[in-house]
Amino acid sequence: MVSPPFENNLIYALDADRSDELASFRDRFTFPTRKGNDCVYLCGNSLGLMPKNVVNMFQQSIQDWSQYAVDGHFKAHNAWLNFHNFLRDTSAEMVGAKSEEVILMNTLSVNIHLMMASFYRPTGKRTKIIMEAGAFPTDRFAVMSQIQWHGLNPHEHLIELEPRAGEFNLRTEDILQAIQDAGEELALVFFSGIQYYSGQLFEMERITQAGHAVGALVGFDLAHAVGNVQVHLHNWDADFAVWCNYKYMNGGPGIVGGAYVHERFAYRPDIPRLAGWFGNKMETRFLSNVDFDPMKGAEGWMLSEVPILTSAALLASLDIFVEAGFENLCRKRESLTNYLEFLILELNDPSIQIISPPEARGAQLSLYFHWDGKAVYDKLISKNIYVDYRDPNVIRVAPAPLYNSYHDAFRFVQTLKECLA
Ligand SMILES: *Cc1c(COP(=O)(O)O)cnc(C)c1O
Repeated sequence: MVSPPFENNLIYALDADRSDELASFRDRFTFPTRKGNDCVYLCGNSLGLMPKNVVNMFQQSIQDWSQYAVDGHFKAHNAWLNFHNFLRDTSAEMVGAKSEEVILMNTLSVNIHLMMASFYRPTGKRTKIIMEAGAFPTDRFAVMSQIQWHGLNPHEHLIELEPRAGEFNLRTEDILQAIQDAGEELALVFFSGIQYYSGQLFEMERITQAGHAVGALVGFDLAHAVGNVQVHLHNWDADFAVWCNYKYMNGGPGIVGGAYVHERFAYRPDIPRLAGWFGNKMETRFLSNVDFDPMKGAEGWMLSEVPILTSAALLASLDIFVEAGFENLCRKRESLTNYLEFLILELNDPSIQIISPPEARGAQLSLYFHWDGKAVYDKLISKNIYVDYRDPNVIRVAPAPLYNSYHDAFRFVQTLKECLA
């Protein structure tokens, strides 16, 4: 893995790929083409590429279904009844949790609601929620609708934190201060792990401590963090978290999401929740006249069976993470993203500002354009570069260490240079 001083030339980029122990994982994925042209794919923050072994996994699932029908719950290659458990250990490792604290279920937005049903319970003065301003739309909609659903006005009870004037990122000290200021009115801190627009990695541990210090609960949306950076939910003492598995996790569009509940809650059957049969203990799951008796651990928040056929893709993808080793991936991610940053800075173009903080980010670099970023984006697309654009004026570029190369970074910046000319 290369480290600074980097060099801005093709030979160097190709050499860096040759000395990369993870380079062969690129062949495990399929890359999209446009009109028969090969492309540079730097959109893993939005939708990860398809692992080739997904095809075998799907074939197995389909064969199990056709061969066993209802008996597949017990007889399938990976028995359906507890299929979610095959996904659980590796998922738990990815977010730094104990296995029992993690469950794969539903999708991210649904899981925000389920977690908030249990962990946002405004009472007396303690009604407010803090989140970052400009949060991902679904998070904001979910949070505002939850406040409303409790009969409160979201504009009064939601505190949205803006960066200081002229800055793109929130300072940790300002977040901690806002939490302290909200004090005993604060019911919940709900933050993203990595901000989807700026790429800022928040200091989740300190945010958690600050929330707990004023008696609030603290939850995180790890959509852009999982499979990207090291997360230690349990040790950081976070109360709950949710994520999706189709971004850096490469589980495929619409794939089942994840949720984490800290063990201090996970073993508490008295915690109110919106329940379903898969969250009930096996012994009484099929009885019609019993009270809900939750499974131990995060599993007690499950509603239904996971979508078996598509979840096979996530299993395929998790296998690759295990094989590559997440620590190795994080080392490459740092090296590759630093290289990309170096190349962009070499352009020496004052109209481009990298707003993702160098000391607190994952794979994604958000390039803020001080003029028409959308025009640059359109040109990049026409030259077979996959990146994405977010209003206002940001092109997001995310080299995923599992399948992106130093050559990809080099090609991207060469093309960007042509687009700027
Ligand atoms: C991608 C993303 C989502 C998507 O939610 P789904 O329910 O999976 O569609 C939500 N929140 C954040 C922060 C995201 O980055």
